[in-house]
Amino acid sequence: MSVRVRIAPSPTGNLHIGTARTAVFNWLFARHHQGTFILRVEDTDLERSKPEYTDNIKSGLSWLGLHWDEGPFFQTQRLNFYRQAIQTLLDKGLAYPCYCTSEELEAMRETQKANNQAPRYDNRHRHLSLEDIAKFESEGRKPVIRFKIDDHEQIVWHDLVRGNVTWQGSDLGGDMVIARTPENDGDRFGQPLYNLAVVVDDIEMNISHVIRGEDHIANTAKQILLYQALGVKVPEFAHTPLILNSEGKKLSKRDGVTSIDDFRKMGFIAPALVNYMTLLGWTSPDGEEIFTLSEAATKFSLERVNKAGAKFDWDKLDWLNSQYLHKLSSEELLSLLIPYWQEAGYQFNIDTDKDWLLQLTALIAPSLTRLTDGVKEAALFLKGSVISSPEATEFLTQEGVKEVLEAVMKGIKSDLTLSEANDIIKQITKDLKVKKGLVMRSLRVGLTGELHGPDLVQTWLLLNQKSIDKTRLKLIINN
Ligand code: GLU
Repeated sequence: MSVRVRIAPSPTGNLHIGTARTAVFNWLFARHHQGTFILRVEDTDLERSKPEYTDNIKSGLSWLGLHWDEGPFFQTQRLNFYRQAIQTLLDKGLAYPCYCTSEELEAMRETQKANNQAPRYDNRHRHLSLEDIAKFESEGRKPVIRFKIDDHEQIVWHDLVRGNVTWQGSDLGGDMVIARTPENDGDRFGQPLYNLAVVVDDIEMNISHVIRGEDHIANTAKQILLYQALGVKVPEFAHTPLILNSEGKKLSKRDGVTSIDDFRKMGFIAPALVNYMTLLGWTSPDGEEIFTLSEAATKFSLERVNKAGAKFDWDKLDWLNSQYLHKLSSEELLSLLIPYWQEAGYQFNIDTDKDWLLQLTALIAPSLTRLTDGVKEAALFLKGSVISSPEATEFLTQEGVKEVLEAVMKGIKSDLTLSEANDIIKQITKDLKVKKGLVMRSLRVGLTGELHGPDLVQTWLLLNQKSIDKTRLKLIINN
């Protein structure tokens, strides 16, 4: 059997971390089996679906490296398939028009509530006579189409993650609406609904394995009944665990991130993020934790996907991100940092300053965990003005510090070399009869406004190339 899987996001928001992780598992499964990964945009919710969300989903998947083999297919362009299936179900007597008004449904729910029963449709229009229908129609009522779900039906499937799953028909809320009321006079039914459209698409696209979040389990039970009603083979199902926050609740907007864009803006890079997502609910058989998507694909199996929710671990994501950042060449890292610097409003000219920017990148690289750290680390070089930390300001008032800085000022020349810089430091230590540590600290604070930072002499040389060292020291001495 050839493996065909799909990711089927609804474009009602930006690409969500949960959807992206489901896409990762589908992609890995497809690649592992030399199968096909399909993108299907489930845009039948016309009010909430927006083209910009579709764009965001597509660019997010591409950014993560989750390229699809077929699609994107749009459900709004496939309505005829769904209409045909609804007609088939009506013809087979497995679906029927229901004329209940919203007031009637509300009253039904109220009664159920009063009797401590779970809310459900009580299937009251399942056996309408032709006269009933004629009467409702003459009242101008418009029907929805409901699919029959028998209470005594037991739905059983072998889930590739969760093992055997059993659902009772009576727990599915009664006969299910598969089409809304018709919009046009003369139409028998209106907009097809989610469960029906998914099943029709999965049949028509020959989907072999439906891999999706465990929040869809109840839908799976309903969908299996639809497959059976349409007389086709039921695909395999695998329900992946939810992503949880540190309190064990579903990761949500309240945790500050939901979309892949949020992670990008926070300075995570795609290979690290996608690597981390692979570990959200899956463990590699060899215990490896750092791998590319393709490497993960060779080892991926649904058997090693956990049932339990996957806790989101920020420290681990940071650790992975830094591992990836530290492996990049200065050239690669620079091109990733540039958008963050531009966003921060830093002024630089990538064409004329390329060499200098590469040196700067190499200097700050070891201290980066996220790309956003590069904004702070490069501020000294690219921002123009630097605000000294309170400790540094305090340090400047110490005895001997100003004298050191004045001496440095005298020694500074343009195009300083490494040995010239070291000689200046040595000479001042000798002339002023102070410890080298004091000279170094004074110089660091004078140049950077901080007591700690990357290699001091390298920092100085970089600043010197742009004559920023002179400007800074002058400012501090005159203050
Ligand atoms: N459109 C559904 C969602 O975004 C996914 C449906 C499915 O995977 O079957 O949750």
